[in-house]
Amino acid sequence: MEEKEKNPGMETETEQGGDEKENEQDYEKICYICRRPESTAGSMIVMPGNMCLCHDCMQKAFDSVVGGNLDLSKIDFSQLSGMPFMNLNFVPTGNSEDAAKMQIPRRQQVKKKKRENAGPAFELKDIPAPHIIKRRLDEYVIGQERAKKVISVAVYNHYKRVYAESIRRMKKGAENEEPEEVTIEKSNILMIGPTGSGKTYLVRTLARLLDVPLAIADATSLTEAGYIGDDIESVLSKLLAAAGNDVERAEHGIIFIDEIDKIAKKRETNTRDVSGESVQQELLKLLEGSRVEVPVGSNQKNALTPLKTVNTDHILFICGGAFPDLEKIIRERLTKTSSMGFGAELKDKYEEEPDILHHVINKDLREFGMIPEFLGRLPVTVTLQKLTEDLLVKILREPKNAILKQYEKLLEMDEVKLVFENEALEWIAKEAIKRDTGARALRAILEEYMLDIMYEIPKDPNIGSVVVTRPYLEKTGGPRIQMRES
Ligand code: ADP
Repeated sequence: MEEKEKNPGMETETEQGGDEKENEQDYEKICYICRRPESTAGSMIVMPGNMCLCHDCMQKAFDSVVGGNLDLSKIDFSQLSGMPFMNLNFVPTGNSEDAAKMQIPRRQQVKKKKRENAGPAFELKDIPAPHIIKRRLDEYVIGQERAKKVISVAVYNHYKRVYAESIRRMKKGAENEEPEEVTIEKSNILMIGPTGSGKTYLVRTLARLLDVPLAIADATSLTEAGYIGDDIESVLSKLLAAAGNDVERAEHGIIFIDEIDKIAKKRETNTRDVSGESVQQELLKLLEGSRVEVPVGSNQKNALTPLKTVNTDHILFICGGAFPDLEKIIRERLTKTSSMGFGAELKDKYEEEPDILHHVINKDLREFGMIPEFLGRLPVTVTLQKLTEDLLVKILREPKNAILKQYEKLLEMDEVKLVFENEALEWIAKEAIKRDTGARALRAILEEYMLDIMYEIPKDPNIGSVVVTRPYLEKTGGPRIQMRES
C-alpha cells in the first residue's frame, strides 16, 4: 500500500511536456483563480473567454460583489446555461469533451492523473501479515494483547478481501459482474473498553502503520438526516479530506466511530426513544457498503458543494465505546445460567473476574440497546481491559513515543538529564487509577508536576541533572538536583 502513493503527481508533470499530440480526454480543466483541477475542485464553470472557475471561487467572487447577500443555492442555474458563453454544468462530467469543443487553452488544463483501474490498488505482498502488524502495534500500545491480536487478523483479512475484490473486478470487468462462489464478508470491528484504555490510540496507530487515511467521528454528534448536527455522510467527508480528496485512497481507509454506546436504545424507560436507534439504522448502509454522494471540502450538502461518489464497501469501520453497565449485564447472564448448579460459588467467581468484558456475546449488547442489524454488521468484537498499575507504569516509559521520553528529550535540549525514580512512577500510576480515566490521566498528572521543573531548570545553566522523586510528587520534598562538574 505504501508504494502506491509515491509518485502519481510527478508522473503528471513529466509526461505533460513530452508528447504534444495527446488526446484531449487526457486533460482536465483547472480553476483560473485557485488552480485546482476539476478532479479536486469539482466541475468548472466556463466563463466568456474560456476562463474556467471552480464553484468555490465563483461563490467568493459573488460574495465580494454583493457582500454575501446572494445565496447561489437559490439560483436556478439551468436557466443560465442557455447563455452563449456560460457552461454551468453542475454535474461533474469527469471528461473534457466540452472543454475540447470550447477550445480551452492548455494553460487552463492539466493532464489527468492516471486512474489505476488497470490493476489492484496494492499487491498482496504489501499487506503486512498479522504477526507483523501486531509486532508494530506492540511498539506503541502496551498490554491489550488479545485486542491487538484480534485486530491484526481482522485488518489483514479486511485488506485481503479488498485485494480479492479488486482482482475479481479486474478480471470480469465492472459491467458483467457475476457472484463469486466464495465471497469474503466485511470484517468491521466493534471495540469495547473503558475510557482511556487505548481504543482510539490503537486505531490511530494502526492507520499510521498501514499508511491509510483515518477519520474519527463521534457517534453523539451524528444525527438523523434533517436534524441539527452532522449527518451520517459527514464521516465520509472527513475521510475524503484525510485522503487529500483522493476517492480511491479514501475507499481503502479506516473510519473510527467513537462513543457508539451513546446511540444505544434507552433501556428501562417507558418513553419511546428512537433517536439512538435511528442513528444506528442510518449507519447500517455505510457499514455494509454502499455508494454515497459525499460533499467535498464541507460537511454540508448544498448546490455549490461539489459531490464525489464514495463506495464504502472497502472502508474498514471500527466502532468503539466504553459501554458502562455492560459488565453488569454480562455478570447477570453468567450467574443466571450457572445458578442451576453451584450458584453461589460461581457468582463469586464472576464478581471477582477482572476481565468480565471478554465474556460478552451479542445478546448482552442487544440488551444494552444495540439493534441486531447493527451488531450483524460488526462481526468482530474486541474487548480492551482496564489498565492496571503495572501497565500504566509501562505506558509512562516504554512506548516509542512514551511521555517520559518526550520530557527527557525536551530537557536534553538544555543539556539536562532527567530521571524518574521507580517509586515516583508507581505513585503517578496509583494517582491515575484514582482519577479513573485510564492512561489519559497520566499526561494530566505529569503536566501538573513537571510544570515547576520545566520552568525552573532552564534558569540555571549549571544544572546537570534532575531526579523526580516520590516525596516531590507527594509534596513532602523536592526533586534531586545535581550541578554540572566544571
Ligand atoms: P480511549 O480508550 O478512551 O479511546 P485513548 O485511546 O484516547 O482512550 O487513550 C488516551 C491516551 O492514553 C492515548 O493517547 C495514549 O497516549 C494513552 N494510552 C491509552 N492506552 C494505552 C496503551 N494501552 N498503551 C499506550 N498508551 C496508551
